[in-house]
Amino acid sequence: MKEHFQFETLAIHAGEQPDMREGAAGDVAAPIHLSTTFARHEVDQPTAGYEYTRSLNPTRRALEEKLAAIEGVSHGLAFSSGLAAETAILMGLLRSGDHVVASDDLYGGTKRLFNKVLSEFGISASYADVLDTAAFERAITPKTRMIWVETLSNPMLKVADIRALSAIAKQHSLILVVDDTFLSPYFMHPAALGADLVMHSATKYIGGHSDVLGGVVMTDRDDLYERVQYYQNAAGAVMSPFDSYIVMRGIKTLALRMERHAANALRIAHFLEDHPSVGRVVYPGLDSFPQRELHRNQATGDGGIISFELRGNIEDAKRFLSRLKIIALAESLGGVESLIELPALMTHSSVAPEERQKIGITDTLVRLSVGIENADDLVADLAQAMA
Ligand SMILES: *Cc1c(COP(=O)(O)O)cnc(C)c1O
Repeated sequence: MKEHFQFETLAIHAGEQPDMREGAAGDVAAPIHLSTTFARHEVDQPTAGYEYTRSLNPTRRALEEKLAAIEGVSHGLAFSSGLAAETAILMGLLRSGDHVVASDDLYGGTKRLFNKVLSEFGISASYADVLDTAAFERAITPKTRMIWVETLSNPMLKVADIRALSAIAKQHSLILVVDDTFLSPYFMHPAALGADLVMHSATKYIGGHSDVLGGVVMTDRDDLYERVQYYQNAAGAVMSPFDSYIVMRGIKTLALRMERHAANALRIAHFLEDHPSVGRVVYPGLDSFPQRELHRNQATGDGGIISFELRGNIEDAKRFLSRLKIIALAESLGGVESLIELPALMTHSSVAPEERQKIGITDTLVRLSVGIENADDLVADLAQAMA
């Protein structure tokens, strides 16, 4: 679809124009093509380019076109999980001896991939604080090939300056990869700010209903697309046709969901800021957010994740979390249902205590993924659990 359509229109229609040819039914939602193989008329002529589902599948193709359209780039790729997408980027583009500079508070699974898996293949990573863009430049060595950052970090919501990092990447001929999971393509287009590759865990906002695992990559660079796509087929961690359908269905309501996630989160962030049992509240929509101006310069909304500190000790935090009735005590984020967790004991328990302290993850820091339930009900649930 042509680029002049707006996000909401592309999210619904891109990749899914009804097939109005003779004999076709004209489905308005892309059919789920479960077939693993595709029959052909002639030995050397695959039907419409389809041969075998790992290489190319019509439902996954529809999703990949939609992904490219909503990011405003030419290519999209869908994988079986966010980490499978990351692996394809890293293994598809790097070689033994290469080095990556990444942000120091990366998603735990990404850090594990760098430190425990890629390290075994001779690919090394060093880490810099996104609050200090110059530290990324200082960490560059003659072996550096890539910079890897997240748009809002987890759980401290630190903002990476994508334009500045892109300038550094260009100057040193590096590939800039941005994990935009926390904001979704509705609130930010890292590719337009200079990212070479954009990736998301589609398990979070893009899927949006906590019922599908997926990872996606978008890029405007043909050369990078070809290499990551080659790896996608060669290593094989593709998104299944059914999951592709579920993710497409999620994208159609992404704009509506993100608006509500952000409106509910702002309301709750204000409630938390005013509550005597709460210390620091970190949410990009608050005036107190330290990088508000940078954030506003590169994103169009504030997302649905709030991190806040409960006053008291870890037992008080545990009691608060177990008393919640609507908000589920669970890892993950980005679904329609509100989820809450204690990073020190859950998502970030594998991070060494001194490291956690350095990042700001105290024992009573709580991460809340605000869902799209009624905001009054969510505020009431938090209030009763704090009482
Ligand atoms: C969840 C997550 C991932 C990993 O994605 P999976 O779908 O769980 O493999 C990567 N990056 C971020 C920021 C995430 O939140």
